[in-house]
Amino acid sequence: MEQGQVIGVINDIQTMCMNDGPGYRTVVFLKGCLLDCDWCHNPEGKRRYPEVIPYISNCTKCGECIEVCPTEALILDEDGIPRIDKALCSTCLQCVKACRFDALICWGRIVTVAEVMADVEKDKAFFKNSGGGLTVSGGEPMAQPDFVYGLLKASKDAGIGTALDTCGHAPWEDIKRVLKYTDLILFDIKSVDNDVHRDYAGLGNALILENVKKIAATGINMRIRVPIIPNRNDSKESLLATAKFIEGLGDSVQGVDLLPYHPYAGSKYQAFGMEYPFPSGEGLGDDIIEPMVELFLDYVPEVTVGG
Ligand code: SF4
Ligand code: SF4
Repeated sequence: MEQGQVIGVINDIQTMCMNDGPGYRTVVFLKGCLLDCDWCHNPEGKRRYPEVIPYISNCTKCGECIEVCPTEALILDEDGIPRIDKALCSTCLQCVKACRFDALICWGRIVTVAEVMADVEKDKAFFKNSGGGLTVSGGEPMAQPDFVYGLLKASKDAGIGTALDTCGHAPWEDIKRVLKYTDLILFDIKSVDNDVHRDYAGLGNALILENVKKIAATGINMRIRVPIIPNRNDSKESLLATAKFIEGLGDSVQGVDLLPYHPYAGSKYQAFGMEYPFPSGEGLGDDIIEPMVELFLDYVPEVTVGG
């Protein structure tokens, strides 16, 4: 198949982003994730396929969506709000078209590499002036390795710089293949403790840590991203272990981005009619984050907060 016709599922394309690599970035958010972090801020990125989500605060309970659903996937709950049985939904989008109140939204769309690149190339002038480029993010992009390869290669072929934001849970052969067309890796390390990782991110971290060492050994530029999650990975002991591990990766690591937990995802889960598995609480203030920055600075050359 011609490279430009490789298809993938994305959630969104955002332009003029400044937190996902140098300069102005166009960030393509791929849909689907291999992990299942209980604090995840982006529930819309978890599943690999397009999905219809009820935005319940907009629902007037008119029932028109129920009438048009050909598969009886929509049912009314005890409060008169439509709920979708995902096992029956064919994503025909009849209900989305029928709803006059934007209470049903389709998250995710199937696109080709060529279609995405047509959007990305519109921002070429901004990339040139700022040192920016394309960032492929998610979800977890490496859940769609052929699509990621196609995007990164097409970008480099067009003279556009590239970054890949990944959790690293993917076969090494897939990662190795895309590195050739990647200028910067943004690599997430959630915890270097295997048990903690398995308990809160859904899978152990052996493959992830093995892959990040292999990537570092290639000499490619890397930034390590560490989410700071209360009662998960924020103890001094845990942060020290992470900082020392990152130091051991060597000179490929340009710096660390600490990504503090924030409580806003709770309302997003609620809007989507999903239960938020992580109790929302207060965000993390400077008084908590600053000592963490100091801790990491003993081991890595640069630390930012927020990516
Ligand atoms: S989702 Fe839209 S069409 Fe369905 S009951 Fe609510 S407002 Fe009516
Ligand atoms: S997308 Fe189609 S099948 Fe799915 S709930 Fe809506 S109308 Fe029913």
